[in-house]
Amino acid sequence: MTDHDLNGTIAGLLRDLAAVQKSTQSKWGYKRAASAVRNLEEPLESYLQPDGTLKKIHHVGPSSTRVILEVLQTGESPTVASAIAASGQTSKAEQSRMWRQHFLTRSRVLAALNNRALTGPALDTYRGDLQMHSTWSDGSQTLEDIVAEGIARGYEYCAVTDHSYGLPIANGLSMERFAEQHERIDALNTRYAGRFRLLKGVEANIRADGSVGMSVDELQTMEIVVAAPHAALRVSTDQTERMIRAVETPGVHILGHPRGRMYGSRPGVTADWPRVFAAAKRANVAIEIDGDPSRQDIDYTLAKDAVAAGCLFALDTDAHGTHDFTFVDTAIAHARLGGVPAELVVNTWPLARLLTWARSR
Ligand SMILES: [Zn+2]
Repeated sequence: MTDHDLNGTIAGLLRDLAAVQKSTQSKWGYKRAASAVRNLEEPLESYLQPDGTLKKIHHVGPSSTRVILEVLQTGESPTVASAIAASGQTSKAEQSRMWRQHFLTRSRVLAALNNRALTGPALDTYRGDLQMHSTWSDGSQTLEDIVAEGIARGYEYCAVTDHSYGLPIANGLSMERFAEQHERIDALNTRYAGRFRLLKGVEANIRADGSVGMSVDELQTMEIVVAAPHAALRVSTDQTERMIRAVETPGVHILGHPRGRMYGSRPGVTADWPRVFAAAKRANVAIEIDGDPSRQDIDYTLAKDAVAAGCLFALDTDAHGTHDFTFVDTAIAHARLGGVPAELVVNTWPLARLLTWARSR
């Protein structure tokens, strides 16, 4: 599959246009149009009508429609090009463009899920999500909400991975708070025995030196430990050693959103990824594909390198609310496009196998 995705290209152009607007209202209008385009289920080509006009798209106004028509008809948008040139922000726009590479729009996600020529994991072989946040840290969903939504989706388990105390900005939990949370999880697991299992987890913060800010004893109170970078995500110096140290930390199971990139605004960690993946393979640590549409981290291009290294994968949503459970589609799509075998995706494993793997770390 090529990178040809007009929805993605056009959403990017609308973001570029938003960035050079002077009025907050038009900035907001173009941004809203861009996200409407990213969320379309069909390619924009199918919105073009025989008379050359565009079918109405919710949240896309006349100025955005003009940009869309220019691109559909000529492959480029003179409107956006001249607005950027006039703003004097050409290099900034180029940088944002680079930071939108290999992000999938909703229409490409659905195409990858429905493409039978692609093998790999699928929604119906996916048993549970291993990165989720609750009201205990910075999420809006309660533990009960996670159980209810998990059961509704036919999952067998989910891991609650609230932030640890090392990340105060995300309301990280102290070990005392985790102990309280674990009592609540035990009570829910008793109530839902045989139907659903909530796993005790944490998202530990990978610090600048690669340590995860929690002791081995503390990590061992958890059933699933996601270690993920939340700082130094805009520096271009090599951070291979930082990431290798994190995956080699005993008790870590998943390298979460490995790059820490953000759509159009942040490149994330620079590292020799094949070396990081080789270390993860040796340590039996899973590489996460974070399905949050603004993260998509790692993406299908890097996933190919992790497949070549023989890594395990965790396909997670990083959900902060029950609406975010659908982000799993994006994670699965990247895995399928990256050629990840379903067998290597820990979320496809039955609970007993998952726990055996986790305890071996
Ligand atoms: Zn995180």
